[in-house]
Amino acid sequence: MESEKLNITEKYVQEFNERCANFHAPEFLRFITETDGNNVSYLDLIVQLENVIKLSPYKQEKKINLSTEEMTAIIEEFYSKYFPKKAQEVKQILNGTHPYFIDTNGNSTVHFEKAKPDEKRSSNVGHSGNNPYLNFNVYLKDTIEDLRTTAHELSHAISAHEMKIVDAIKEKAPKKVFDRLTKDKSFSSDCICEIESHIIEKLFNKFLLSKGIMNEEDIKVYENSEKISLVSEISLIREERDILKRLTFPITQESLTALVEKLYKDKNFRLIDRIKKMHDTSRNSEHMFRYVVGRVVADVWFKRFEECKTNKERRGMLESFQKYLNKTHKLNLESACEELLGLDFTSIVEDYCLGKISDIKTQNI
Ligand SMILES: [Zn+2]
Repeated sequence: MESEKLNITEKYVQEFNERCANFHAPEFLRFITETDGNNVSYLDLIVQLENVIKLSPYKQEKKINLSTEEMTAIIEEFYSKYFPKKAQEVKQILNGTHPYFIDTNGNSTVHFEKAKPDEKRSSNVGHSGNNPYLNFNVYLKDTIEDLRTTAHELSHAISAHEMKIVDAIKEKAPKKVFDRLTKDKSFSSDCICEIESHIIEKLFNKFLLSKGIMNEEDIKVYENSEKISLVSEISLIREERDILKRLTFPITQESLTALVEKLYKDKNFRLIDRIKKMHDTSRNSEHMFRYVVGRVVADVWFKRFEECKTNKERRGMLESFQKYLNKTHKLNLESACEELLGLDFTSIVEDYCLGKISDIKTQNI
């Protein structure tokens, strides 16, 4: 099926520029392509990752049919077992009594809503504008994902980077304090927020496995769908870079038209499609980079957790992760990696790649 030829109108360019401005496209491009002392950029690292990932066909996750009460009980049990110091907070969030999750009219802002399997709305936790409370929305699809998504969003809900925003609003902190926690954050501090949630997902799977709610096959389905997401996030970042590096800001109608013409001439439909997506959706490379970081750091962290020889070592890792959650608002990519694993991001990517290579080797034996 031939898709309609992309027509670059003045309005289209204006909207395209607005999208790019929303995520500081040129600055973000610089952030991920800048090289360190060894001539390696974050982009080089993630491209290196892409080359070692092996995928199997996508499979839908297992259906479950749990009431919200049953789900809540399982999640509370998980948090009290793994993160006892956070258990009370989690319980309050889930039963609608946590003060950070109550709006100015006294209503709980925690919502569970049924969604159709193909619905694109994503569950989220966050604040909006100057509201002194957080919103918590989970969309349920009657699969294992419901449980995991709730546990995932809870990790954001108890993480300092969300809490400190509410504190700043409640304490009427000076604008510069508030701005530093929200819009003036650096790319490097913004991109760590999916680390906590992916570590929680992996630990939660382990817990569901121990309870017989998931089995080994379900874990494989999960791991594969994680890899599928990772590969698509990486290719989005790469393709967006390939477009942005050929443009200067603000983008003019002439330059975007010339680029599109050239891409049609080269039959580079992937990049034309990427231009359309950059214009039509808010999924941009800055947003995707945090998922790449989250999945990779969590994978290496969890591998180390699984390799612990004693319960004491495991407890130590959980304890330090619990402490990590209290300081996420002060960390950036490098200090977060250091805090969690005592490594820089480059070494974590190397560990991930080595891990994947040994996975492939084992599969081939
Ligand atoms: Zn998340």
